[in-house]
Amino acid sequence: VCPVGALVEHDHTWKVIDALADPEKVTVVQVAPAVRAALGEACGMEPGQSFTGKMAASLRMLGFDHVFDTDFAADLTIMEEGSEFLDRLQKFLDGDKNVKMPIMTSCCPGWVKFFEHQFPDMLDVPSTAKSPQQMFGAIAKSYYAEVLGIPREKMVVVSVMPCLAKKYEAARPEFAVDGNPDVDIVISSRELGRLIKTMNIDFAQLPEEDFDNPLGYSTGAAPIFGNSGGVMEAALRTAYELATGETLPAVEFEAVRTLTGVKTADIQVGPHTLKVGVASGLGNARELLEMVQKGEEQFHVIEIMACPGGCIGGGGQPYHHGDMEILKKRNAVLYAEDAGKPERKSHENPYIVELYEKFLGKPLSEKAHHLLHTHYFKRQQL
Ligand code: SF4
Repeated sequence: VCPVGALVEHDHTWKVIDALADPEKVTVVQVAPAVRAALGEACGMEPGQSFTGKMAASLRMLGFDHVFDTDFAADLTIMEEGSEFLDRLQKFLDGDKNVKMPIMTSCCPGWVKFFEHQFPDMLDVPSTAKSPQQMFGAIAKSYYAEVLGIPREKMVVVSVMPCLAKKYEAARPEFAVDGNPDVDIVISSRELGRLIKTMNIDFAQLPEEDFDNPLGYSTGAAPIFGNSGGVMEAALRTAYELATGETLPAVEFEAVRTLTGVKTADIQVGPHTLKVGVASGLGNARELLEMVQKGEEQFHVIEIMACPGGCIGGGGQPYHHGDMEILKKRNAVLYAEDAGKPERKSHENPYIVELYEKFLGKPLSEKAHHLLHTHYFKRQQL
């Protein structure tokens, strides 16, 4: 049984078509990191290419008013999750008995639902930071709606995700204000591919275009969220610089990069040696969690992604039929995108800096907590 009840694919492309056709609505689209490494495959192109520019062009051609990027919210996630980690670590080192380590990433709804069902005694362990999808929706319908001078009800936020569980995540009641969800419609990479073909858009011939700003700008730390180990690496880049006040000598943390299975590493951050763990696939997640539960290893940070390889191999991506070569190519596309960015650490994203200056105050502020953090629920064991 799928722990998130998401393995039956529901096609929501008709909802997107309705929203785009409604003159009363302002349509905003966000695209998850992993989609850009695979979308072209759904449009007949070979894997191993970056489809970012053509993807932005196709969304504009479909008629979205604002073509934004979940990568912006991935940078925001790092600001909140990284700050939460450093805060928790300091309290833990100070001997605060109410504080538990490790902190675990919380951006994968498949994994969140899994621990709510299977490890209900550990609900205080994962980060309270919302996923990038949900952070994006919360900021679009508050900050950006304010920038546009429109009520949140006038805005329709559409997500393109590599993931079927993201549909379930967007529908969680805690991610809505007075019944109006932060994210209105979620479609998968495959659904976007179908929409592009239905509209007779020749994807291969599209020009390379950029996302709109401000919610379309991202650093190199963001696209790697789509790879197993990527959230950990992005968090380490920022946590290191915030904790030490020093510039990282090299931003690549090869020790946490992995395509499959479990990987653990010791990472030096100033005077502290951090024990970190990365797992993709829920069987591997269970292995890591049981080590924590039994007290066999003292981890400080753990990243878990439900899908083997991370979101590049997500259930909403073009089918790869277990072909590891395809996953390797998608993985390489995201690391190449990181390497090509002018800024590669989330805290260096100028639009994130501006968002805090103009709207949120600082990471973990009351407003940031209200908009960008969540809580978890004990659920019946499956
Ligand atoms: Fe969705 Fe899989 Fe990515 Fe988790 S790892 S967010 S379930 S695509």
